[in-house]
Amino acid sequence: MRCPYCGHSDSKVNDSRSVDQGIRRRRECLGCGQRFTTYERVDNSILTVIKKDRRREPFDREKLLRGIRKACEKRPLPAGTVEKLIDDIEFELHRTGRSEVSSSKLGEMVMERLLRLDHIAYIRFASVYREFADIGSLKKEVDSLAERESKQLPLITEEL
Ligand SMILES: [Zn+2]
Repeated sequence: MRCPYCGHSDSKVNDSRSVDQGIRRRRECLGCGQRFTTYERVDNSILTVIKKDRRREPFDREKLLRGIRKACEKRPLPAGTVEKLIDDIEFELHRTGRSEVSSSKLGEMVMERLLRLDHIAYIRFASVYREFADIGSLKKEVDSLAERESKQLPLITEEL
């Protein structure tokens, strides 16, 4: 990324944040010290997903979007939540410089975020993704969530 002021090729990044379909970086030229901002589109074509059977396929945002939307169906989540969730995942993958991600890691990243948003959506997604072996393992997951919720309640009342 060349400095627009002096043409120097090195700059340091002071701040990066995810915007729309890309990343905005605030940079400082290492040659002249001028600050400038760049917008970089997240290029998902370079991201490869490694499936369980070791097959590789290009990251398909739409496919992931459909899966998460289904899990979030009729849940009281603000509009744009699912898109934001995927943006966040893309941003994290991009930030860590990964060009490959396993489908299980991708699933975990989704579940991690759904867990914070909505437990029902989380369980729905997890039941498809983790392919719970039996109703017992599904129940175990639901129980641990229920326990978590009951532990969170006293904290909320304390704040009030
Ligand atoms: Zn410069």
